[in-house]
Amino acid sequence: MSTKTTFSLGRIYCSVFGHRYRVTRKVTSHINEYQCMLCGHEATTDDKGKITKLTPQLKDINETLTTFHKKKNPAF
Ligand SMILES: [Zn+2]
Repeated sequence: MSTKTTFSLGRIYCSVFGHRYRVTRKVTSHINEYQCMLCGHEATTDDKGKITKLTPQLKDINETLTTFHKKKNPAF
């Protein structure tokens, strides 16, 4: 058993049970960025509230939203 085997088992786990996401960044009260603890896959909440793959474009939008949100709610 090597670490390589463990890693691929994580990938199999993800494809069977789905990713084990943890929140890596709070963008707004509705939108978060997530990363899978097992395979490192990144995701975010889209405008319909569903979890979707974190593309560079979505990362850009989230960046803008974070800045906007902080300005509007300094205490957040
Ligand atoms: Zn995963």
